Amino acid sequence: MNCNIAVIKGDGIGPEIVEEAMKVLDVVGKKYGHQFCYSQILLGGASIDAYGVPLSDEALQIAKESDAVLMGSIGGNTTTSPWYQLPPALRPEAGLLKIRKELGLFANIRPAYLYKELAKACPLKEEISKEGFDMVIMRELTGGLYFGERKTEEVDGVRKATDTLTYDENEIRRIAIRGFDIARKRKKKVTSVDKANVLDSSRLWRAVVSEVAKEYQDVTLEHMLVDNCAMQLVRDPAQFDVILTENMFGDILSDEASMVTGSIGMLSSASLREDKFGLYEPSHGSAPDIAGKNIANPIATILSAAMMLRYSFDLDQEADAIEQAVQKVLEEGYRTTDIMSEGQRLVGTKEMGDVIAQTIENL
Ligand code: NAD
Repeated sequence: MNCNIAVIKGDGIGPEIVEEAMKVLDVVGKKYGHQFCYSQILLGGASIDAYGVPLSDEALQIAKESDAVLMGSIGGNTTTSPWYQLPPALRPEAGLLKIRKELGLFANIRPAYLYKELAKACPLKEEISKEGFDMVIMRELTGGLYFGERKTEEVDGVRKATDTLTYDENEIRRIAIRGFDIARKRKKKVTSVDKANVLDSSRLWRAVVSEVAKEYQDVTLEHMLVDNCAMQLVRDPAQFDVILTENMFGDILSDEASMVTGSIGMLSSASLREDKFGLYEPSHGSAPDIAGKNIANPIATILSAAMMLRYSFDLDQEADAIEQAVQKVLEEGYRTTDIMSEGQRLVGTKEMGDVIAQTIENL
């Protein structure tokens, strides 16, 4: 298979971790007979330095013409970097919002997986974490409260602010279909999260998700109120497979779910649209505090590349190989600083990429 991948190395640790993901992809390509062609484009601070804008039209065009985008992370130290003296529309994050919007990425997936080797990093009690957990949060990314009309006014001398939460059935249906498709590739369970006891938008959400479920008889659907879900995530995270939810609930729940894994350097993410196209990036930021030191954990980016193989290219076996290799190197005790514990083998960014690549070769 030939795959054209737009690569955004980004800022801070971005270039270091993306190098390792490309190293791993190249080994996968060689072993399984695929050609991964990379077109490097700039986004964020690197693009501001080169072109004065966080995303150029040319870079956007290259991303649009590719089959998928693999990204490190963008941005700098928000207090000291000169990028943050610029008007908001010219700052690094404006480029990220623009590329997501222009590419029509409406579905965000963030897996939260507890490796038993890293169980000590999990802040939950051992009796809860000992079974491990493996879920994905599927969040609607382009609708709801964050994109509704808003205003701040003064009424009779009192300041008043209004945000509006709107979803139409098409927006709900397309993310629900994505959620059920992904559940089919996993443990075949969808937990749809809403606030249907209060909000009209949630009642429509629940109705449309239930309609979509009829087309997926092999997938179990349950509905859960968002406040209960926040509680269940720390009480019994093992019960979840795919959590399907709207924009703001997903924003909050995905951070909660990633926190309970305890290891930000391990968490991948994908933003998808209706077809196979997606943008894949680690859940963490550009970590400017550790950039250029060869100590960043590249695993979140490597696992994001695995998601790209699975969701954009339908290369499940190849994605499995990457995930198995990550599991194996953790079992063998390899650790970057952020996940290091006593008695394990401390390695740098490059070495972690090397051992994962080598493990794939030997699988
Ligand atoms: P961050 O995630 O970059 O860092 C938080 C902490 O986690 C830091 O101590 C960092 O050293 C550590 N960390 C993060 N990733 C790591 C890794 N792979 N290995 C080891 N340690 C790691 O969050 P922040 O400091 O709040 O943000 C820094 C910059 O990143 C900001 O400019 C922010 O806007 C940007 N950001 C970008 C994205 C993105 O590109 N999608 C996402 C979040 C934050």
